[in-house]
Amino acid sequence: MRQKIVAGNWKMHKNAEETEDLLNDLIDKLPSDAPVHIIVAPTFVNLASAVEHLEFTNINVAAQNMHQAEGGAFTGEISADMLKSVGVNTVILGHSERRAYFHENNSLLKSKVDTALKHELVVIFCFGEELKDRQSGNHFNLVENQLKDSLFHLQEKDWANIILAYEPVWAIGTGETASPEQAQEMHGFIRNTIDSKFGRNVSENVAILYGGSVKPDNAREIFSKPDVDGGLIGGAALKAEDFAAIVSAA
Ligand code: PGA
Repeated sequence: MRQKIVAGNWKMHKNAEETEDLLNDLIDKLPSDAPVHIIVAPTFVNLASAVEHLEFTNINVAAQNMHQAEGGAFTGEISADMLKSVGVNTVILGHSERRAYFHENNSLLKSKVDTALKHELVVIFCFGEELKDRQSGNHFNLVENQLKDSLFHLQEKDWANIILAYEPVWAIGTGETASPEQAQEMHGFIRNTIDSKFGRNVSENVAILYGGSVKPDNAREIFSKPDVDGGLIGGAALKAEDFAAIVSAA
């Protein structure tokens, strides 16, 4: 049985004070005994304080990105070691906004995944097609290539630290979600793709999250699909009531 996971990606929202407020609100409203792995990803500057704040809770902290190099002359960047040094154990890589606005491609993401795993970070690896790919019927192909190019070089043991997050770009922040059937169809395809390369032990154990306009009123149905193991939540993660309702739906 795979454990359900609900992760909140706060993107470039919430300053220090607002971060603290939202964390307090979450501690208040999230069920402390939910059989769900709960993760929040505030911005870099608030990670250390978030880790401290959440120390005695069941809420884990993730970074939204990191650099692939160990360190050095990369102005403005953050390394895996720096994340670990403030107690962060999880990192989101390959979010569609990183791919679209910061030109992150499959091969760069392969390096980021390797660096993160080397530092024993859990990777939430995001991928998914754009609307034009779905309209042209190329979405399965594209998703398969995203997985192949960034993850197919891994060893079986590496998969213990990989969480997949399928996020169709056309559903992110648009209010338009994939239907539960569309999500299940793609998640089943993803699991089969992993199965054909790494076998059942990996494919049956890897969590595949859905992301893209998940809200309290659609979460339960999406999460009820057999290959959907929870969600990566953007907009609805910024309100404690909504995020708590989504965690309860899982
Ligand atoms: P959304 O974002 O829930 O606001 O659509 C999801 C994401 O970007 O991970």
